[in-house]
Amino acid sequence: MKSAASPADFPADTGREVAFVGRSNSGKSTAVNLVAGARKLARVSKTPGRTQLLNFFSVGEDRRLVDLPGYGFARVPPEIQARWRKSLEAYLGERASLAGLVVTMDIRRGMTRLDEVLLRWLEPRELPVAVLLTKADKLSRGAAIAQERALARELGSGVKLVRFSALTGDGVGEAQAWIDTWLAGPK
Ligand code: GDP
Repeated sequence: MKSAASPADFPADTGREVAFVGRSNSGKSTAVNLVAGARKLARVSKTPGRTQLLNFFSVGEDRRLVDLPGYGFARVPPEIQARWRKSLEAYLGERASLAGLVVTMDIRRGMTRLDEVLLRWLEPRELPVAVLLTKADKLSRGAAIAQERALARELGSGVKLVRFSALTGDGVGEAQAWIDTWLAGPK
């Protein structure tokens, strides 16, 4: 629908949208594609030059999914990191149509410092949040469950949590159901 560098470029702030955010390489683009059920949707957002942009995808009348720029990529120069931070803050802090946030975390890494900073900062907004523990197929079932329990304690009861895998499809239906609920309701 649209790729935006700054709030002036965002589509009209009407209806409802659900945004995806996460550390670079956490499986965010893969998750956007799977959950939207449209392959290659988020590939657009991976094309060079677009990774710093907010990418808006229409998924119905006045309903959008938003792929936010990934963070924590060490090789990015500080001035670009500062710009990312600004556009993320502008979006997450002020977007009225934002109905829910999906955070992708590599299940092997768990919550990183930047994930934690972001979630703390968002608390006053009382936004529904779901964490996808991505690449769950990389751990044994027992280890994945243990990691999910540990993170559930860290995150508290207000945050939805699911083991997620693009390979096995684990968690995809659950994530879709949460997102559908957030996107439903009056415009
Ligand atoms: P992004 O940078 O957060 O958008 O991450 P990507 O979606 O590009 O994924 C980063 C890497 O992890 C890619 O090589 C993906 O193929 C891989 N990946 C993503 N999801 C999964 C998953 O569920 N299982 C496995 N094994 N690999 C995954």
